[in-house]
Amino acid sequence: MDEILIHKAADVLRRSRYAIAFTGAGISVESGIPPFRGENGIWSKYDPATLELDFFHRNPLESWKVIKELFYMYFGNAEPNTAHIALSRFEQKGLIKSIITQNIDDLHQKAGSRTVYEFHGNSKKLVCTKCGADYPPVYIDFDHLPPLCGACSGLIKPDFIFFGENIPFDAYQNSVEAAKKADVVIVIGSTGEVMPAAQMPFIAKQNGASIIEVNTETSKFTHSITDFYLEGKATEVMKQLYFAVYGE
Ligand code: NAD
Ligand code: ZN
Repeated sequence: MDEILIHKAADVLRRSRYAIAFTGAGISVESGIPPFRGENGIWSKYDPATLELDFFHRNPLESWKVIKELFYMYFGNAEPNTAHIALSRFEQKGLIKSIITQNIDDLHQKAGSRTVYEFHGNSKKLVCTKCGADYPPVYIDFDHLPPLCGACSGLIKPDFIFFGENIPFDAYQNSVEAAKKADVVIVIGSTGEVMPAAQMPFIAKQNGASIIEVNTETSKFTHSITDFYLEGKATEVMKQLYFAVYGE
């Protein structure tokens, strides 16, 4: 890790008035949750079509088998890592104002972060596609798929967005607003390939923000808008960045 670069990024962060974070699947990899893309990514094992909205309605059982394995077997046991915790501490100290996350794993909230905009929804709530009743995962019988609503027998769907669905309105509005206000964005573990989420750091940049990027590999952001590319694992880099800002 480039010490000088970390210190430069820490200086920019320390002097910021409205820093935010933008996170992708990479921040949760060290919590044991695989990303979608790349080596060992989920898509090397499963067909992304199973998470398309049309497919889900046509083949709920097939879709649900994948959903169960991907999102309700890994996520439940996963714990936040040092990178999630560093962001939560930055927020406690008033340095980071909000997190825009593409993740649906609840790990930012588990780490104690309060202002989290879940751009793709979350997995901790499930909703009936017919009557709108909502259920926490403990109410779902994952042994009998697809799960059906106790009230109306409608098909139950996790409250994260599938391919072909709109971004939740509030999360979108809040994210765009935060991106426009931000003077620094820490982008962690995102390929920048998922739209429109990936627009958020670009919106911030257009409004004058500095971009600090943390990733093990380069992304769509690295050679376009990134000012400080901190190459490495999210946990290691975030620990160093926190230390460089606060010396503790
Ligand atoms: P992605 O899967 O496209 O890319 C993951 C990124 O993380 C890559 O750039 C990779 O180089 C980087 N990375 C891998 N290990 C890392 C580490 N230890 N430290 C830092 N970076 C690391 O992720 P994406 O761009 O966020 O898009 C995938 C979409 O899939 C997301 O929008 C999200 O909704 C969903 N998803 C969510 C989860 C989750 O909630 N944890 C997991 C998989 C997919
Ligand atoms: Zn129902």
